[in-house]
Amino acid sequence: MLTTRPRGTADILPPASGRWNAVVREFRAVAHAFGYGEIRTPVFEHTELFERGVGDATDIVDKEMYTFTDRGGRRISLRAEGTAPCVRAYLEHGLASGPQPVKFSYVAPIFRYERPQAGRYRQHHQFGIEVLGAAAPSADAEVIALAWEFFTRLGLTGLELNLNSIGCPTCRSAYRARLKEHYRPHLAAVCADCRARFERNTLRLLDCKQADCQALMGSAPRMGELLCGECGVHFEGLQDCLRALGVPYVVNPTIVRGLDYYTKTVFEVMHRALGSQNVVCGGGRYDGLAEILGGAPTPGVGFGMGVERLLQLVDGAGCLPAADGPPAVYVVAAGQSMGAEALALAMELRREGLAADCDHLGRSVKAQMKQADRLGAAFAAMLGEDELRGGVVTVRKLAGGEQETVPREGLARFIKERLG
Ligand code: ATP
Ligand code: MG
Repeated sequence: MLTTRPRGTADILPPASGRWNAVVREFRAVAHAFGYGEIRTPVFEHTELFERGVGDATDIVDKEMYTFTDRGGRRISLRAEGTAPCVRAYLEHGLASGPQPVKFSYVAPIFRYERPQAGRYRQHHQFGIEVLGAAAPSADAEVIALAWEFFTRLGLTGLELNLNSIGCPTCRSAYRARLKEHYRPHLAAVCADCRARFERNTLRLLDCKQADCQALMGSAPRMGELLCGECGVHFEGLQDCLRALGVPYVVNPTIVRGLDYYTKTVFEVMHRALGSQNVVCGGGRYDGLAEILGGAPTPGVGFGMGVERLLQLVDGAGCLPAADGPPAVYVVAAGQSMGAEALALAMELRREGLAADCDHLGRSVKAQMKQADRLGAAFAAMLGEDELRGGVVTVRKLAGGEQETVPREGLARFIKERLG
């Protein structure tokens, strides 16, 4: 029996991998334009990092982590989210003593044991951004504006930015108490998950997708009314920046985010076309996280964006940036003994900066021409014994069929000129 890939994972084959690379390139370009440097953290971490950083009352730590004991008896987890590893690296490398803020971007696989369905996988990928060491609301605005600029450059429309503030530990505890008062009389009517959330992760009552529970949300008290002075000023400041940047948003008091570490700003970017898994990007501020991980208090703000969901939007909108193209030239070995010569000519063309391919199956000239067509090559470069002796190559434009004999040393220039 054939061994298949594990459930909830995907193989990204060409040409789809070209679409992947195109959005990765665009993300890196945007991150660079905003002054972010790319960080690469390990695929696995000490389990404790996520337990402390993400919090064990969250779905991620409670039910979704890929955790195992390694041969040395250490508890290890595959990267379950991107922020805690970035903050760990910032602390571990003493980056707090350098210039602030530190601005990271990343492109990383994320592992969560979830029920696989459209838009939900056990290995997915995230584009992420983190700003460490800046407490001002302009940093929150920059992070959001970066996501928005990325969507704009990809040509995506129809996205909705939902913004909220969940306050700081002080004002949030007052809010949590009010929320409990609101839900307490209805505990028998809410879903089992919400009954558990009531004590363990009260704010996430507002995150429930069940219709009955959602009805209760409408009449729930709003965090906005209970923000302390500092949190209120921060939230206003963020909105001033977003208006100045022309980033459209709606304030949505039910946005609370799944992770424990958020403070003040939280946001999600949704798109209808994604159906029930409609959040393509989520993030917020996490001023308490560095301390939870044993470091000095350090403000931070960032987002994680689901690459698979993003690609779904890009595909749906038909606005994909150019994918990796076909080879420009297919080198045809015209004659039994010409295989090695064709290989060498293809190599010459590659060194001149062209994408070139050639045959490895001992095909006839006709079959090689057919293969060149199938691959979508622009030109076939035919090399037979006569050409080899004369120092020339016969070049055929595959669309149209015009054919010319060109000196071998001028071949790359000839093709480049005609490719435009
Ligand atoms: P959800 O509420 O959909 O479970 P989340 O709050 O768990 O999302 P985050 O941890 O904020 O998601 O991850 C950031 C982004 O990564 C999400 O907004 C989503 O686009 C994407 N994402 C999260 N989990 C998955 C998954 N299992 N498969 C594919 N994409 C995912
Ligand atoms: Mg989740």
